[in-house]
Amino acid sequence: MSNYQHIVILTGAGLSAESGLSTFRDKGGIWSTYDYRDVATPQGFARDPGLVLDFYNQRRRAHAHVKPNAAHTALARLERKYPGEVVVVTQNIDALHEAAGSHHLIHMHGELLKALCAKCGARQAWMDDITSNTSCPACGKVGGMRPDVVWFGEMPYHLERIAAHLSAADLFVSIGTSGNVYPAAGFVAEARLNGAHTVELNLEPSERASLFIEAIHGPATSVVPAYIERLLAG
Ligand SMILES: [Zn+2]
Repeated sequence: MSNYQHIVILTGAGLSAESGLSTFRDKGGIWSTYDYRDVATPQGFARDPGLVLDFYNQRRRAHAHVKPNAAHTALARLERKYPGEVVVVTQNIDALHEAAGSHHLIHMHGELLKALCAKCGARQAWMDDITSNTSCPACGKVGGMRPDVVWFGEMPYHLERIAAHLSAADLFVSIGTSGNVYPAAGFVAEARLNGAHTVELNLEPSERASLFIEAIHGPATSVVPAYIERLLAG
């Protein structure tokens, strides 16, 4: 299997679930407690910025108590040991890939631990709470600070870079994603169009499982390390 030259790995909430971070879409997930229109859209932010900022402040505080799991660690190991190119494209806004040691990483939905200033566009690492009174360290203006995450109705980040990787990929692996959110849901079709082998690793068959050539189902912390070992064994 080690004859792949360019591996693209898409990761989603199912990867971080076993680290204790709530998933968004699953039963009992965050979107069954909160209405995403209130806390994860530009309209919701305009209506009640305090509510939205507090929602992400809670997420950011919870993040301080979680650690990468065996699946994150296996992916970092793949990047370190594999002779070909390995890139992780993640839908997750947490920083668990980084914490595990992944470097070649694209955060398509932004990062919980970064702040974005809507007044000047500056982005910076951010560990504290953000409030409506927080001033931007770059421009000094108050009231524009928000988490640097992509909300519903906003364009995901780095789509051109991702498309370039997909067109060069000879192996595409999707891990822990429900497969129903575009544009990420279309990545498997894009990779196949370009001749890549495609693999789904997920707790259960996703809605788009039939589009993958190979599928392995089970908890991320067991199926991901096992699959990575296979790749590294060649
Ligand atoms: Zn600013």
